[in-house]
Amino acid sequence: MEMLRGKNILVTGGTRGIGKNIVECLSAAGAYVSFTYTQSEHEARKMEQTLENVKSYRLALNAEHVDQQLEEIAKEHRTLHGLVNNAGITNDGLMLLQSEANWMKVIDINLIGSYKVTKAFIPALLKQKEKASIVFMSSVAGCVGVAGQTNYSVAKSGLIAMAKSLSKELAPKRIRVNSVSPGYIESDMTDKLHPTLRETYKKNIPLQRFGQPEEVANVVQFLLSEQASYITGQNIIIDGGLIS
Ligand code: NAD
Repeated sequence: MEMLRGKNILVTGGTRGIGKNIVECLSAAGAYVSFTYTQSEHEARKMEQTLENVKSYRLALNAEHVDQQLEEIAKEHRTLHGLVNNAGITNDGLMLLQSEANWMKVIDINLIGSYKVTKAFIPALLKQKEKASIVFMSSVAGCVGVAGQTNYSVAKSGLIAMAKSLSKELAPKRIRVNSVSPGYIESDMTDKLHPTLRETYKKNIPLQRFGQPEEVANVVQFLLSEQASYITGQNIIIDGGLIS
């Protein structure tokens, strides 16, 4: 079913993992999808050739000229029906032992990066007549906190708060804002985990497996679509029952 036929949607961090699955899912649902990438130009070009109606932009959220680049991308998108702030990183370590620069990098890319992207598009969203939906990629770390991930947990809980607050600011303009909080999802990010640790984590998940990126993409697609027309200010947890 083409739930998003003709809709213009921008996804950050679209060439791998969850972001790539979101781009594929939205393209299959009939949307025109713009996505950003940092270094994987080859993958971005491949996706442009193999998927319907997708276009890529090189954009590093912590680059010096990011505001200017975002302004240029926003100018090309007079009407935007959906924005998915997916790009993010981890940089783990105990707070006491981590340098401030290492700690802050995670805040800069996950939280400040998503803020900058969203802010760049708000003027266009306010001008257009059509409705829009914004989704922030949070994490269960932002809901419950994780040892060794104070930076990541702070950034991700900040995104939940950003979605809730912004949903109240933008609701009168018919713009919905939500966040999703995945648990352990198969991706480059979780591939880094030691096999023994993976098994321990799996035992704690009621559904007894890591999630697939498609299982996150499906929820994002739903939130962007008219099927979710009365949902705003929510954080949807996608974690196989881990923190329920
Ligand atoms: P991933 O590492 O495969 O993908 C991260 C994406 O972010 C990539 O596309 C990368 O290019 C982009 N990115 C990284 N640094 C960037 C920068 N400086 N500027 C712009 N883009 C940058 O990881 P993933 O698992 O696909 O993660 C996607 C999102 O989902 C992230 O926000 C992550 O925090 C979140 N998440 C992942 C999991 C999981 O288990 N994999 C769980 C909860 C939340």
